[in-house]
Amino acid sequence: MRGYADTTGCRRQYLLGYFGENCEVPCGACDNCREGRSEQPPRSRARAPGFQVNDRVSHRAWGPGVVMSLDESDGASDTVTVLFDALGYKTLALALVAENGILRAE
Ligand SMILES: [Zn+2]
Repeated sequence: MRGYADTTGCRRQYLLGYFGENCEVPCGACDNCREGRSEQPPRSRARAPGFQVNDRVSHRAWGPGVVMSLDESDGASDTVTVLFDALGYKTLALALVAENGILRAE
């Protein structure tokens, strides 16, 4: 908790990392991201590639899953959390998902 209070990186990444989850990019929404203190600055706003909660999706490497939530800030969807059949919850940056086409609706 001390580390959480003192971190100058993305607080979401710190928390998810603490609980053993991977968050690949800063969330862009916590105080450190907004202040530009995160080590990797968030990408410019992602445009949501049309995912909806409860959509069945397929990831190139991780297989099928279901969209559990879309994290939005300022009206733009920044991350998508997917419950993968094989791997459990993963949070993905929509910017990367859209660029690489690694996640698609089934
Ligand atoms: Zn953050």
